[in-house]
Amino acid sequence: MSDKHRFDDTDFREVIPKEEKPGKAMLGADVDSAEESEAEDMDSTEELDSGGMDLREESDSEDMDSIEGSDLEDMDFLEEAESEGVDLIEFLGLRKGNGKDSPKASAAGTKGGGDASEESEYEDICYICHRPESKAGAMIKVASKICICSDCMQKTFDSMNHIGFPMGDMSSFGNMPNISMINLSDLQNMDALPRRQKLKKKKAKEEKKAAPKLDIKSIPAPHKIKASLDEYVVGQEYAKKVMAVAVYNHYKRVACDSQDGVEIEKSNMLMVGPTGSGKTYLVRTLAQLLDVPLAIADATSLTEAGYIGDDIESVVSKLLAAADNDVERAEHGIIFIDEIDKIAKKRNTNQRDVSGESVQQGMLKLLEGAEVEVPVGANSKNAMVPLATVNTRDILFICGGAFPDLEGIIKERLNKKSSLGFHADLKDKYDKEENIMHYVEVEDIRKYGMIPEFLGRLPIVFALDALSEDMLVRILTEPKNAIVKQYQKLLAMDEVKLEFEENALRAIARRAKEKDVGARALRAIIEEFMLDIMYEIPKDDNIGMVTITEAYIEKTGGPLIQMRG
Ligand code: ADP
Repeated sequence: MSDKHRFDDTDFREVIPKEEKPGKAMLGADVDSAEESEAEDMDSTEELDSGGMDLREESDSEDMDSIEGSDLEDMDFLEEAESEGVDLIEFLGLRKGNGKDSPKASAAGTKGGGDASEESEYEDICYICHRPESKAGAMIKVASKICICSDCMQKTFDSMNHIGFPMGDMSSFGNMPNISMINLSDLQNMDALPRRQKLKKKKAKEEKKAAPKLDIKSIPAPHKIKASLDEYVVGQEYAKKVMAVAVYNHYKRVACDSQDGVEIEKSNMLMVGPTGSGKTYLVRTLAQLLDVPLAIADATSLTEAGYIGDDIESVVSKLLAAADNDVERAEHGIIFIDEIDKIAKKRNTNQRDVSGESVQQGMLKLLEGAEVEVPVGANSKNAMVPLATVNTRDILFICGGAFPDLEGIIKERLNKKSSLGFHADLKDKYDKEENIMHYVEVEDIRKYGMIPEFLGRLPIVFALDALSEDMLVRILTEPKNAIVKQYQKLLAMDEVKLEFEENALRAIARRAKEKDVGARALRAIIEEFMLDIMYEIPKDDNIGMVTITEAYIEKTGGPLIQMRG
């Protein structure tokens, strides 16, 4: 561009007609003359505007063509943002994609001359970590030639949060509590969140009130609950009665609201009974009858949060799984924690009791009622597992344990009491008592090693009978799904009748009692004798009836076999 163009501007305009005036002539024009001139060529006007004052001043000495409009524009843009105090995040073009849709960026793109085709052939490289866009993901354009990947940008923000923002006025940001930078991955992966596990939605509160799931009239009365239990559970009359009343009260409590100020306390239970006496069986039968979800957990596997073992809250997670991830159903369920005596306080220990007293402490809030965040479809919480909030307020907790040495503690207390005063009994009055567990009191269990706060949250304490020989015989034959009935049904399919002699049943019960594992031994013993029968009988179609005799059980003889016809 020659000097003539600049100084003889007026002449120039007179000589060249407006329509033919080239864009470059406009660039060379003086500031004053530019105002006067009619900007007909839109491209040239844009360039002038974006070039600003600097461009026009420099144009005196430099050839205009050598100045890249886009570089100038970006510098201008940076200054503008700084002076006007534009939000930093917007200012940096922090958004999904690589900044192509920003008006400024698109302007730069169009003016770069051949940039559009270049852009499709080349990929951006992160200015900090030097990874290409294909590896590092979408880039954030800071200036026209500088790109930063989202990872590096996030790291930068994170370090700003930790050490305080090092730029001017914004330094206070980093040190302020509760103010932190945006997490870029949240913005970019919004659509890509996994939806592998699904959680049934919790109904709105109003809806719940309008149609209560548990209608107070539909809760079976205690005598009906007990009658249903009788069909399955032999003996244990006292335990069945206590449970029926406790469950009845519990679900009444769930159904009613406490607006009148009278809040009914939770009826959590503590069952004491020797192994194989039917503790688990009772609870399982109860849950089936009431059609509520049930979770059975073993207290021995529980440890304080952070230690190897299951978290205490994992029991709620199990219940949620039993309720098919239906939070509302789980909140009305039953959690049975077996072997509770194993988490008694360890005596004479200086070590941290992570699986004993700490577990009792950890269970306090669950027993009372708390909102717990539990993983859905997994045992432990981690970043990939969705969480659900379950309120344990209406969950019925039943704890059970054998408490092996409790008898001694109870006897000691009873003997101490009875040997004082005028009505003193013989010192060994209770030594021969078979069901000494029935005298259990909270005080005895506290002595055993359960902490008072824990016991305070299990207000109903009762004991189950140790199974006698008679009871074992009844267990073999009476319940709806008794073992003997099961075998009779199996052989009936082969059209063979199966009978047990009364003495044979007694012999089985006697042997089971010797094993000292309650009714659990029954199945093992009967399976042993039935193996040969179940193997041999289908061989011969003529057999019509088999009678199991005492001699067969005592291994002194064989079963009685009768042919058809
Ligand atoms: P624990 O008290 O150790 O929890 P379980 O409840 O597991 O004992 O009992 C083991 C099995 O014994 C049950 O599956 C059940 O079949 C049988 N059983 C125990 N007690 C009774 C009972 N009172 N009536 C009928 N079956 C019983």
